[in-house]
Amino acid sequence: MLKFYFQHRKYGIQAEWREKYLEYQYDATIAAISTAVSSAGIGIVRMSGPEAVEIADRIYVGKNGKKLRGQKSHTIHYGYVVDGEDTVDEVLVMLMRGPHSFTGEDTVEINCHGGVYVVKRILEILIRYGARPAQPGEFTKRAFLNGRMDLSQAEAVGDLIEARNKYALQSSVSQLKGSVKKEIHRIRKKIIYHTAFIETALDDPEHISVDGYGQELRVYVDEWMKDIRHLLDTCEDGRIIKEGIRTVILGKPNAGKSSLLNVLLGEERAIVTDVAGTTRDVLEEHINLKGISLNIMDTAGIRDTEDIVEKIGVDRAKRYADQADLILYVIDASRPLDENDREIMRLMDGKTSVILLNKSDLDVVVGAGDVEEMYRSCNPKRVELRYDGNLAKMQRTSSDCKIICGEIKKFTIPIIDVSAKDLKGIDRMEEILTSMFFEGNLAFNDEIYITNVRHKAALKDAYTALERVTESIDSDMPEDFYSIDLMDAYESLGHITGETIGEDLVNEIFSKFCMGK
Ligand code: GDP
Repeated sequence: MLKFYFQHRKYGIQAEWREKYLEYQYDATIAAISTAVSSAGIGIVRMSGPEAVEIADRIYVGKNGKKLRGQKSHTIHYGYVVDGEDTVDEVLVMLMRGPHSFTGEDTVEINCHGGVYVVKRILEILIRYGARPAQPGEFTKRAFLNGRMDLSQAEAVGDLIEARNKYALQSSVSQLKGSVKKEIHRIRKKIIYHTAFIETALDDPEHISVDGYGQELRVYVDEWMKDIRHLLDTCEDGRIIKEGIRTVILGKPNAGKSSLLNVLLGEERAIVTDVAGTTRDVLEEHINLKGISLNIMDTAGIRDTEDIVEKIGVDRAKRYADQADLILYVIDASRPLDENDREIMRLMDGKTSVILLNKSDLDVVVGAGDVEEMYRSCNPKRVELRYDGNLAKMQRTSSDCKIICGEIKKFTIPIIDVSAKDLKGIDRMEEILTSMFFEGNLAFNDEIYITNVRHKAALKDAYTALERVTESIDSDMPEDFYSIDLMDAYESLGHITGETIGEDLVNEIFSKFCMGK
């Protein structure tokens, strides 16, 4: 039993290709430009592999005349990069010896001046002197293959680089520190322990009995399923953290949708005109609002139209509204509501929405009461619409640090007076939006958010496998049925940490990384 247990715990199942890969890869020292290739203060060219120090020494001349070879790990050296007779740049060279480096291998990072030509020239010289160009993500891939991090942490490195808001950054840092890894390890360890017990008992029925073990196992499986369910429940919030809130701006032509988008963006991107129906296509913009991201789509005004081009836009608006996390419904409060508004309100049914009574700088003819009356007449579901004046008490009422304030999200549609022209009510709208989605701060210390769709799929597979175990137990199937499905769950969870995935998938994951990472 112990042998079985440790074998799986240590290596996972498909360790073989990993060993082979490492053997082959140990020959190569890779190099890449790790900073953006554009004019900047500094640029970094990074090299990793068994010959990193040797190759660096071929092109580096220390100001003190010393070579890197005899230097201690984690030290910085000042000197020049030379190419034959040419001095190419004045540099600082960082030396980190394996296994205590990011990749686990000897690593040299050359900090040079950040000119496009300079960094490219240094890379070209390194390659001429023995390094090979790194593939995208290859440094992180080596870190993973050398056991410096698991796959969830390696993916967090990619997410961290891509992070577009405070929460996405916080979440990826937490995953980089190993929050997902630890939780998955914890569950896997328990699963493998019980699988090993069953396997051993089946091998040695004379000494180990599994009588009544099914019922005992059932309790554990329920517990693991609960843990996995909990992780799966964070996926929706995780997606919002990582990708932003899919937001659709709806409203009749000329209500002020484009003007509002421009205000939020702080620039003139959408075309603002007096002719109804000019916003024909759907613009997508990314806006950072106090730490959250809105992926905002300004759509063609909803109205009956014969115009083909515009019709495409209207249909698309309806489709987007369907997929949206949030609908911003802009009403021109200086004009009466009509059938088109009713049509829009139908699209809002069951959706998290905010209603903006725009053009409040003009003489208004539509009030919150009119909106509420119409909304109720076309949406039978019980929803509370609250005018901004009564909203104050909704703010930050929840003291716990949960993401997305469920109560507001599900049952309340705030109605806010704004003027895109005079910027009135815009700050208030931003405040309400942030509090609708993120009440207080996220509790990252004890809450893990699953932000990766691959992890979500693996968790679902593991959950389904465990469900099969409970079915087998409940229908008194033989014990080896349990262990087959337990192993399935164990393997699926191993996809997240990378212990049980194949070479192709690893290659695919890292190929999406940027160059030099
Ligand atoms: P869209 O068709 O909904 O995108 O509407 P636009 O943003 O193109 O705006 C239509 C017209 O309304 C333009 O002339 C805007 O200048 C005007 N407009 C937009 N917002 C306001 C507002 O808050 N107050 C006033 N007075 N005019 C506005």
